[in-house]
Amino acid sequence: MSRNGDEDVRQYMSRIVGNRKLCEKLCRDVLADKLSHALIIEGARGTGKHTVALNIAAALACTEKHRPDGDVPCGVCRGCRKVLEGKSPDVITVGCGGKATLGVDAVRFLREDVHTVPNDLDFKVYMIEDADKMTIQAQNAFLLTLEEPPAFVRFMLLCESADLLLETIRSRAPVLRTEPVSNEDLEKYICEADRRAAQMKLSSPAEFSELIMAASHGIGRALEYLDPKAFAPVKEMRELARSFVNEATDTSDPRRIFPILSRFSQKRDILAKQLACLSTAVNDLIMLKKSDSAPLSFFADRNRAIELCDRSSSTFLYDLGSAVLTAIDSNSRNANVRLTLIKLACDAKLI
Ligand SMILES: [Zn+2]
Repeated sequence: MSRNGDEDVRQYMSRIVGNRKLCEKLCRDVLADKLSHALIIEGARGTGKHTVALNIAAALACTEKHRPDGDVPCGVCRGCRKVLEGKSPDVITVGCGGKATLGVDAVRFLREDVHTVPNDLDFKVYMIEDADKMTIQAQNAFLLTLEEPPAFVRFMLLCESADLLLETIRSRAPVLRTEPVSNEDLEKYICEADRRAAQMKLSSPAEFSELIMAASHGIGRALEYLDPKAFAPVKEMRELARSFVNEATDTSDPRRIFPILSRFSQKRDILAKQLACLSTAVNDLIMLKKSDSAPLSFFADRNRAIELCDRSSSTFLYDLGSAVLTAIDSNSRNANVRLTLIKLACDAKLI
């Protein structure tokens, strides 16, 4: 999303939908000057960790924050705008830069940079992305900086799982959890935020429902998938999972599973995503065995999912779910990709 102009800044602020209470509490802490110098913001991908962190940075920077009855951050003053538009030199993002882990190099940069006084604001915020990917060595090195930073420094550690951080780090920063938004709120939000969403809902409602399910409660992801190029591989992966489940639950001709198996990727990282997607689809069917109104995580079309569920026994679905989990495990242990897929079909008694 481009973030130029008043309208876009306000839209960015409105993205806190699922985390409004959390943001409001933190903004009250800013006003009372009680905000911890370091925060751990934990939550699944796409649940608004960056949005919360940027809103808090904007609240700190807001020059209008002490005006009675005003919103904090106001979103229109110079301080708010620079932060929310990503133009403040004092809000610094540190991340893996495409690598699998966040190593000591990044921490070394932090240790030196924290001592440089702020450029524009009266504080500096370091947003550490994927903080849970910091190596143990890096976390230990970071601890020294986290314990005694200059008074103007704030840290926001964004991560999917705070459990992967050392206890010594967790004990120095409160862990805050971002919450996913409901599908209803997500639909409403993206239709208001982006004209393409409202158009898609009108012209291709089935595709729009697919996009909402694929976003799995993440606003960031839903907005990203409005770009057809970003959504195409996700759509393809979901279609593969649907085809697999369709053939697996139809026992009339076992040979039909082979062309489906050949559509899975030979590349381990892509296969991992495909199997994870398949696992979510199978889990939906297992949940539907318990109740027709069970919340679904994969199927946008509940009636179709119930049809598939009704074709199979609970035992079959449990075996299939367990075979997929075994395949995910084998793939993560570098097993041969072809053998992993054949074993999946055998374990689930499909062939
Ligand atoms: Zn402001």
